[in-house]
Amino acid sequence: MLCVRECPAWCIHLDSHTEEVSEPGARRPKKVNVLDTFDIDYSLCMYCGICVDVCPFDALEWDQHRALIGTTRESLYLNKEELTSE
Ligand code: SF4
Repeated sequence: MLCVRECPAWCIHLDSHTEEVSEPGARRPKKVNVLDTFDIDYSLCMYCGICVDVCPFDALEWDQHRALIGTTRESLYLNKEELTSE
């Protein structure tokens, strides 16, 4: 959630939930966070890179090969499937 909190444009939208996962040999299930949605509104993004810099898990990175071109505001609102597609 650091990317969401630190983004100066408030253009990252993230939803998640927790699930209990049982592992063989563990005494009790552990709780893990599961990402449901991760959207970026590139019509608001300033390309400052703060979201990339603050992530402690290196989950975000710049993609040099993707051109973000859109003619409508909706076309610049990308969900996690669109953000991670080749
Ligand atoms: S690069 Fe865009 S999404 Fe990331 S923190 Fe800056 S404004 Fe927000």
